[in-house]
Amino acid sequence: MTYDKKITRHLPKCLHCGQQIRYGRTDKKYCCDDCKNRHHNEQAKSGRAYRRKIMAQLMANYQILDNLFRAGVTSVELIIAITMGFVPGVVTSYRRVGKHDEFCCFDIKYIMTDMRIYSISKLENVSLPLPDK
Ligand SMILES: [Zn+2]
Repeated sequence: MTYDKKITRHLPKCLHCGQQIRYGRTDKKYCCDDCKNRHHNEQAKSGRAYRRKIMAQLMANYQILDNLFRAGVTSVELIIAITMGFVPGVVTSYRRVGKHDEFCCFDIKYIMTDMRIYSISKLENVSLPLPDK
């Protein structure tokens, strides 16, 4: 091994292109501003895509629960709801109430087990747990 290989072996690599960073501070993360900008843009893009997917699923879950509620259905087998497109893990809130797991999808409240969704109801006089603006 040459002396040069020995010292370059431990040089940090650019988080975007993977090239060794030969100049600058030892904690430098990118080889150039271009790589830094591209990396940040990709991170932001994947964050936006993730948030958009979650929002779309929340809206789909809401539509399913709202249709059931409007039809007077307050209890449904989980597998049926999943067949309709419901995704159990996407919720706006969760709390343990006694022995039950109570979830909300915006203003629709329900209890969910491994087998069923039941007690589907709408929250009355919804007040946001957020500071007034
Ligand atoms: Zn780079």
